[in-house]
Amino acid sequence: DTIGRNLDRAVQAYPDREALVDVPSGRRWTYAEFGAAVDELARALMASGVDRGDRVGIWAVNCPEWVLVQYATARIGAVMVNINPAYRAHELEYVLKQAGISLLAASLVHRTSDYRALVDGVRGNCPALRAVHYIGDRSWDELLAVAGSVTPEQLAGREAGLSCDDPINIQYTSGTTGFPKGATLSHHNILNNGYFVGELVAYTEQDRICLPVPFYHCFGMVMGNLGATSHGACIVIPAPAFEAAAVLAAVEQERCTSLYGVPTMFIAELNLPTFSSYDLSSLRTGIMAGSPCPVEVMKRVVAEMHMDEVSICYGMTETSPVSTQTRRDDDLERRTGTVGRAMPHIEVKVVDPATGVTLERGVSGELCVRGYSVMLGYWEQPERTAEVIDAGRWMHTGDLAVMREDGYVQIVGRIKDVIIRGGENVYPREVEEFLYRHPKIADVQVVGVADERYGEEILACVIPSDPADPPSLEDVKAFCAEQLAHYKVPRLLRIMEAFPMTVSGKVRKIELRENYGR
Ligand code: ATP
Ligand code: MG
Repeated sequence: DTIGRNLDRAVQAYPDREALVDVPSGRRWTYAEFGAAVDELARALMASGVDRGDRVGIWAVNCPEWVLVQYATARIGAVMVNINPAYRAHELEYVLKQAGISLLAASLVHRTSDYRALVDGVRGNCPALRAVHYIGDRSWDELLAVAGSVTPEQLAGREAGLSCDDPINIQYTSGTTGFPKGATLSHHNILNNGYFVGELVAYTEQDRICLPVPFYHCFGMVMGNLGATSHGACIVIPAPAFEAAAVLAAVEQERCTSLYGVPTMFIAELNLPTFSSYDLSSLRTGIMAGSPCPVEVMKRVVAEMHMDEVSICYGMTETSPVSTQTRRDDDLERRTGTVGRAMPHIEVKVVDPATGVTLERGVSGELCVRGYSVMLGYWEQPERTAEVIDAGRWMHTGDLAVMREDGYVQIVGRIKDVIIRGGENVYPREVEEFLYRHPKIADVQVVGVADERYGEEILACVIPSDPADPPSLEDVKAFCAEQLAHYKVPRLLRIMEAFPMTVSGKVRKIELRENYGR
């Protein structure tokens, strides 16, 4: 169904239960109030001339208005375009132009960035952009003020004409491996995905979900927001952007039952000096996803955060996003060693990347996904779409995986990250997992850099445990020598203070490679 009609069902079933809580501002909405606020904004957007299929940009940190824009645009069949809050002028201009955005909803400021100044700087180059409204500013009130000129009947009329296969969302990928691509998604794609993610962690109207993950990314807006509202659960916003202490405080204050995060977020929360002072006993579940989830972190999350049923998901923006997920009764081995098995109504297979032939279980190859969740395509990039979705509607993920005998999937790494040194394939993750055990290494990323002799050479980028006493290349080599095959041992070392990250919390290996030698 459409997202708007699905929301109506929650409003009717649970009018007095909370739908949305913003901890920083203390604002809260019941389902009845949330439904009314969505309708008001939807009518305001219609009154401002937003037609079905028009692109409405949202460039903001996590805040209630972000969620209202998400549901209001879906209700009127506009295409919401998520814009990464970390973008600066150049990237903002690219998205505004590439998606042909006509109305932009934006934060005023975030951290050190003045969004209004950035928008003003690029506006002249974006002829399609007619209107910009800043959240918390007079221009936002001006937008809402026109809602009255569209009647509830006109809104209902618009919605009645929508199809669940309409495009309603353009989400740009994280940009981990290159320039982000805009995945075009329908109601059908993302509403179902949010619903099933919630179903597999057994959400009900009793659940309260703490969301420190960015809304601009599918983790926040699909697995979080749609996962919540399709089950009548409550969305809790702990802070505009990730802050470990604010997350734990929100869980305690709002008695949250579920907590989301990429592994680095959980690590930061567990390592807070004040961690044990928070009462997290209301938690029962949560979702960890986005990048490989280390065993030790999972064990601590289960034991110290009371999240017995925490789930691991694997997916990508292009598949709405989740394709595989662990189940509630899976043991820790499955939840740390795998990314779960196929979601309901989704098929997954592992193929030989060269021939496309399906491989036997236990053999590593490219993971492919098919089902309702596969995107409509990359926005106005049919050639790039054809590179990843084949004639049989299989999405080729670019990830290397193994399917075990029990159907559970293990992610080996990204095809693009595999290092080919002198004809031997080296999987960075394997070398990283090994180096994590070195006492002088706090964090490590392994990448391949061009080398005349071997084609590629192995570079270890290391954040030392003690900046005053970093490991030397000889230390690293000696540590590996006994236990890793000779061709997997890093021959180059770079000591760093921090890694270049995407806003969704992933290390941009491409930058580590490109910046090498500079
Ligand atoms: P880009 O496509 O722009 O390079 P990206 O692929 O990081 O960026 P996303 O769509 O946000 O953008 O992320 C999807 C990718 O994240 C997957 O293809 C996979 O490599 C990785 N990933 C997601 N979940 C997991 C997981 N549970 N374990 C390991 N890797 C994961
Ligand atoms: Mg990708």
